[in-house]
Amino acid sequence: MDRVFNFSAGPAALPLEVLQQAQAELVNWHGSGMSVMEMSHRGKEYMSIQAEAEADLRELMGIPANYKVLFLQGGASLQFAMVPMNLLRGKASADYLNTGEWSKKAIKEAKKYGAVNVIASSEDKNFSYAPAQSVWKLDPNAAYVHITQNETIGGVEIFGTPDTGAIPLVSDMSSNILSRPIDVSKFGLIYAGAQKNIGPAGLTIVIVREGLLGQTVAGTPTMMDYAIQAENDSMYNTPPTYAVYIAGLVFKMLKAKGGLAAMEKVNRAKAQILYDVLDASSFYSSPVARENRSLMNIPFTLKDAALDEEFLKGAKDRGMIQLKGHRSVGGMRASIYNAMPVAGVQALADWMKEFEKTKA
Ligand SMILES: *Cc1c(COP(=O)(O)O)cnc(C)c1O
Repeated sequence: MDRVFNFSAGPAALPLEVLQQAQAELVNWHGSGMSVMEMSHRGKEYMSIQAEAEADLRELMGIPANYKVLFLQGGASLQFAMVPMNLLRGKASADYLNTGEWSKKAIKEAKKYGAVNVIASSEDKNFSYAPAQSVWKLDPNAAYVHITQNETIGGVEIFGTPDTGAIPLVSDMSSNILSRPIDVSKFGLIYAGAQKNIGPAGLTIVIVREGLLGQTVAGTPTMMDYAIQAENDSMYNTPPTYAVYIAGLVFKMLKAKGGLAAMEKVNRAKAQILYDVLDASSFYSSPVARENRSLMNIPFTLKDAALDEEFLKGAKDRGMIQLKGHRSVGGMRASIYNAMPVAGVQALADWMKEFEKTKA
């Protein structure tokens, strides 16, 4: 079978063993005589799938008992609105860190519901770093502090967890959730679209501390009220059942591989392979500040952008696709989520070195 190495930022590659298991179970899940796609979401088979997915995610991430795990739809983009709708809780404003394209979208949406205080921005340097917490201008009356933990387009990741004291920390982890262990108890809310490092598009995961629920702004649609979703086990209406099932298979696979500490080791090694090539080269360069180099999304440019197409074509001929950088930054971007094997990263590193030799 000819599987490509898919470096897409999202929807992204899924682990082959998960796809194969889904294939084996496609038309008759566990002797039920049905595909998961055909099951009632209120039937015992599907209920067990979702309950297991939640239990496995809780175990993988060490999610404390006083946090709800919600399986929603609408993508991370809908969370840009749901977060202020649910978490402003009568306060006038929220604090946002501006580290790139996704932060900007979150800020723009939040402004529909309240005032936004931008605590720091890296726009001055084309979003090539994340401002350190020492320069943040936090507002002690803010409803929450929002960060984009990994800017998927810019390749800027925030390591370590900022300390916002009593003010809830909200993190968009769409592109780095499950890539390494984090201390969930340090966050008020974490959200992530599934299509990068979890599973198929159509599922959005929200992890939220219970004490923050139940104070939505007037006019919040029922479906967008975290408290109602939590009371109904994310089944106020029909959940994205097949996407939850695939995500559940991914969680089981991650557990079998040793959990998130093991994933971090592999992910650090994979990223290092590419950063080593970039650092050893004057042909390629990375715009990102060292301390914020993402483990998941690695943008880089060629010395001469006129060579981009040839680089991409050579990569494609070698079974590597989706390396073209986001239109807002140009150049290349390699997204190397959990499902990208070391061999794929090594193949890219080899091609980069080969190409440089012939062109430098
Ligand atoms: C992809 C992405 C989004 C948008 O996700 P959708 O699920 O398409 O709405 C938001 N934030 C980050 C960090 C992303 O990578």
